[in-house]
Parts: sequence; structure tokens; C-alpha cells
Amino acid sequence: MSEALALEGIEKVYLKGRPGEVRVLQGASLTLQQGEVVALVAPSGAGKSTLLHIAGLLDVPDAGSVRIGGVEMTGQPDRARTEARRSEVGFVYQFHHLLPEFSALENVMLPQLANGLDRLEAQDRAQALLNWVGVGPRADHRPAALSGGEQQRVAFCRALANAPRLLLADEPTGNLDPGTSEQVFDVLMALVRQTGLSALIATHNLGLAARMDRMVRLDGGLLVG
Ligand code: ADP
Repeated sequence: MSEALALEGIEKVYLKGRPGEVRVLQGASLTLQQGEVVALVAPSGAGKSTLLHIAGLLDVPDAGSVRIGGVEMTGQPDRARTEARRSEVGFVYQFHHLLPEFSALENVMLPQLANGLDRLEAQDRAQALLNWVGVGPRADHRPAALSGGEQQRVAFCRALANAPRLLLADEPTGNLDPGTSEQVFDVLMALVRQTGLSALIATHNLGLAARMDRMVRLDGGLLVG
């Protein structure tokens, strides 16, 4: 098995040395093998978003190392981190964060165009992804014309548009009613399994967490299995 993500001894302190200093991560470590889907469970404020941002190269830790696909990312220049983030990592948030003035199709095309793909190829891939998650017939609609569940499905397609190695999701169904949440989660899991992705998915929902390969908890700034 090959390693998709390795976090080793990650530390993060906000407002370091100032009044109100917050020691969020205090040596968090985790390894995800290729194809593994892991639930990240912790109460609000425990540091899940911080950990996901560090894993996805959106933020840098104060100490510790991040490897993606076996490549050490700590200390790499911004440009290398941005390139790795664009091609290796997909993000999904609680809110879809789709661009409102673009159609669903265009929202899924944009990351591919940013990655240098030809327009027609990007369009074909975007349409195929949208078809796969059942939003194909609505590809020309803007996000505001889609339901919450459809918006999240489009957000999944956008996250997977550049065929990343790793999906990082922060409460991806947390904004949906329970029925829709189940359905959309099924789509996400099927998509992840189909593509052989590794995923780290933060959730408060223990029922959803139980359907992943394993669960880690963030407790006192450490990850415990
Ligand atoms: P979670 O995702 O588990 O709710 P977060 O990672 O968002 O947790 O936040 C962890 C802690 O760090 C919280 O106490 C939060 O208030 C604090 N925090 C997050 N970002 C910042 C920041 N930029 N500056 C100061 N404190 C922050």
C-alpha cells in the first residue's frame, strides 16, 4: 500500500506568546494509506479545520511534517505547495462555496483550466463528473438554482476535478437535513471508492463516521485512533 498523507508531530498555536494564546495542535500524527477513508471526529473548536488546512497545505504548522504521496511538503516554497495543493488535494466544506455567477459545469471546469487543461477536455470531464453524481441535467444552472444537496454534489465534483490523491472534507453534509445528508454522503463515499481516493472527513455525525474505514479523534491537540 502506498501512503497518501502523513502528518507527523503537528503543532499549531494561534496568537503565539500573546494573551489568549490557543494551543490547538500539540503533536498530532496520522497516516492515511491510498484508498483509505478516515473520519475525523471532535467537538467544535477542537481544531479539525486547522488540521485539515495544514494537511491540505493551506496553512503551515509551527512544528511537525506533512507528506503528501510520500513527498515532504514542510519547508517547500509557496509555489511548490500551491502546485501540490492544486493537483493532489481536493477540498469540500460545509457550505458549497461555488462561484455564484458561474454554472455548475463551469464551477467544475475552473480548477481544471487553472491546472492547464484544455477547455474541451475540462468540459467533458466536468460533465462526466456531474452525470456521475446525478446533476448532469442541471449542469447549466447556477448554484442558486440548485438544491442544497445538488450544490454539495457539484462541490464534490469540483473537489475531484483534477483527480487528486487526497480529499479533505470539513463537515461535508453538516448543512443538509438528515435525509439529504445520508443521500449526499452515499454519493460522496461511492465517488471516493470509485476513484480510489484517500479521504479525511471531519464530521459530528457518529453514524456517518461508523461507515468509514476508521475513526480518529482529536483530543487535547493529539489524534487518537
Ligand atoms: P474546529 O474545526 O474543530 O471547530 P478550529 O480548527 O476551527 O476548530 O479552531 C480551533 C481553535 O483555534 C478554536 O478555539 C478557534 O477559536 C481557534 N482559532 C482558529 N483559527 C484561529 C485564528 N486564526 N486565530 C486565533 N484563533 C483561532
